[in-house]
Amino acid sequence: MTTAVLVNLAYLVAAVLFIFGLKGLTHPKSAVRGNLMGAVGMLIAIVVTLLNEQILSYGLIVTGLLVGAAIGIILALSIKMTAMPQLVGLFNGFGGIASVLVAGAVLFQVMMSAAGAGVVEAGLQFTIATVASGLIGAVTFLGSLIAFGKLQGIVTEKPVRYPGEQVVKVLILLAALAVGVYLVMNPALTEYYWILVALGALLGIVLVIPIGGADMPIVIALLNSYSGLAAAATGFVLSNSILIISGSLVGASGIILTTIMCKAMNRSLANVLFGGVGAVQQSAQMDDIYEGKIKQTSADEVAMILKTAQRVVIVPGYGMAVARAQTPVRMLTESMEADGIEVEFGIHPVAGRMPGHMNVLLAEEDISYDKLREMDQINPSFPQTDVTIVLGANDVVNPQAREAADSPIAGMPILNVDKSRTVVVIKRSLSPGFAGIPNPLFAADNTLMLFGDGKKVMEELVAEYKEA
Ligand code: NDP
Repeated sequence: MTTAVLVNLAYLVAAVLFIFGLKGLTHPKSAVRGNLMGAVGMLIAIVVTLLNEQILSYGLIVTGLLVGAAIGIILALSIKMTAMPQLVGLFNGFGGIASVLVAGAVLFQVMMSAAGAGVVEAGLQFTIATVASGLIGAVTFLGSLIAFGKLQGIVTEKPVRYPGEQVVKVLILLAALAVGVYLVMNPALTEYYWILVALGALLGIVLVIPIGGADMPIVIALLNSYSGLAAAATGFVLSNSILIISGSLVGASGIILTTIMCKAMNRSLANVLFGGVGAVQQSAQMDDIYEGKIKQTSADEVAMILKTAQRVVIVPGYGMAVARAQTPVRMLTESMEADGIEVEFGIHPVAGRMPGHMNVLLAEEDISYDKLREMDQINPSFPQTDVTIVLGANDVVNPQAREAADSPIAGMPILNVDKSRTVVVIKRSLSPGFAGIPNPLFAADNTLMLFGDGKKVMEELVAEYKEA
């Protein structure tokens, strides 16, 4: 068997592992196994690629691997769970710039040796793929940096809008396409590659800067898809099948994730990219909704109510992640179950700040997946639920989504916790959540507000429950 055949066979194994790895990631139970399969696939792909006979020296490659691995380990260990979206954003950006640099380097190398030989011979697949790689990679790089900056508070979170915004975007896109076509026809004019990359970078900025920080997680999922497309294009530049396959998988899964997130928020992608959520601060409306109707409670009172319950649902949200309250959540769950109370968790698809955010936090505590119910599963059971504890969730339980047609979250599917017999909402104040709007649930007749930091309150609740 020739080396080329062996390499391709190894790539095939890696591709199969990527596909089964992705399949594994679709369910929490198989997610760890899926992750491992993907990692093994990647290891095979890297090792096999390093065996390439064209590699003459390993010094730079090993240095790059060591530096990259060190940065990756430090970031993975130090990053807070709530900062995960911007970290993913940054990684997408790195993927984009890697595609730009690799495709550019190959173009320069091919053209230099072609000039030496006195003939310029570059196939259409090569030049088109190089242009696609440079353009999409540059959009992804700068777009991701802006997205990172917005979530990290380095760039303004507010949508930056200006007159003629859409015209500017279209003009830059047309200019980039024109330069791209010119480069395909004249690949020896390599300086045009950098003009293309510069236009792509500019496009990345003007595409992301008008989008509010609130919509950034969706944009990051989209940029993730772009980074995959750029990598797939680079795969065509290098004629490397595993890069084409893995890039396409990232591109497809990124766009599927974007669609799922848009659907769960009842937003169209066009609305996210060009509209911007109307995060209006409705303080006057807040007074109308809350005034005189808020019933405050205490941990000992809630503990007594829980003692008499038969069925309790816990609905976690972004506030549970911020407070890192999952440990006392598990402890309370165990105590209630020991008393024969049925406890389940209602998980909204966009609770928190990234898909699967709540599942990951609860899994850290070894809370069984069998207790985690998706929105459609749990919604019919709220009328038979004695107590629902809403822990740091807000928008995903806001009845305005069902009832107010003019609300920014109108039509977003929500967890119908207000149908439970009693609702206990744990949060620090009456402040709005991500969408910046008041929540009539807090003023409902069957709602009790338990104000305080999620972790502190839950710890009190665990202690009071044991004593009650
Ligand atoms: P929200 O952002 O609506 O609300 C979170 C609440 O947590 C706040 O009202 C806040 O109130 C409270 N909170 C913050 N810190 C603490 C703390 N330390 N202790 C207790 N409470 C705290 O969260 P949801 O999870 O309900 O909704 C998610 C939102 O994010 C949705 O609007 C969704 O569309 C959006 N989104 C989600 C994405 C995803 O993929 N998951 C992606 C993009 C957007 P207070 O300050 O009073 O404590």
